[in-house]
Amino acid sequence: MRDLSGRLDLCCINTATLGHRETIERIAERVARAGFGFVTPWRREIDEAHPQRAAAAIRAAGLKLGGYCRTTYFSADDAAGRRAAIDDNRRAIEVAAELGAPLLVAVVGGLSPHSTDLRGDRQAILDGIAALRPTLRACGVTLALEPLHPFYAADRSLLNTLAQAVDWCEALDDGGPRCIGIALDAYHVWWDPALDASIARAAPHLAAFHVCDWRRETRDPLLDRAMMGDGVIDLRGLRAAVEATGFSGPVEVEIFSRDDWWHRDPDEVLATCAERLQRCC
Ligand code: ZN
Repeated sequence: MRDLSGRLDLCCINTATLGHRETIERIAERVARAGFGFVTPWRREIDEAHPQRAAAAIRAAGLKLGGYCRTTYFSADDAAGRRAAIDDNRRAIEVAAELGAPLLVAVVGGLSPHSTDLRGDRQAILDGIAALRPTLRACGVTLALEPLHPFYAADRSLLNTLAQAVDWCEALDDGGPRCIGIALDAYHVWWDPALDASIARAAPHLAAFHVCDWRRETRDPLLDRAMMGDGVIDLRGLRAAVEATGFSGPVEVEIFSRDDWWHRDPDEVLATCAERLQRCC
């Protein structure tokens, strides 16, 4: 397991942590000044018609890209909607490549708006992901499937456990160069009794590792993520298990915190992330 003391160059700030309040140029400058080595921007911060500008600003700050967030939901009520989602996700892959991001995070979508067909919607999502393989390979980008806590199954993701993500990676393996992996987010998987066994199975697929904390009495499962050390997740134990598989990517902080961290001074947030990464993760 890597020692993160004095090694913020191994750590990444997902820009959601800062609440999407500033331009990517300003964010990159702050993140670099705080000592971090990586940044993962969201699509809303990037002018996708001219991603070179953001890419240049991130490079100029001395940062590398951890990844790019994130896909449009693959689930939709009809074929036209599913095709539109695939097209939009193709564009996101191209932009990820233009930014120099190694991966695009995939939040796959929950049930289609008017559907209760869990199995059918899961299959439609798998088909949508499969359709992206040629673009992923042409662009040299990995699609990092992020399993979300089952709380989100209806509205955000029918991919809900790490074991299921491994199953999907295996189902999507067509024998060609690997282009689909897994983003493991502590917030979504910490509770899973099968986690240790699933991490071992996930070893060849792990592409990203996200940290924050789960408040013992969460006030909102979407927007009340806690700072590392302020909740119940054994983050150090989890990172040890992840890195025991050979994972050597950045440790990425991703905190959605509508009522707390998003109101604080961005430099205070970054300094706290830095201290907690080294002490708690
Ligand atoms: Zn995440």
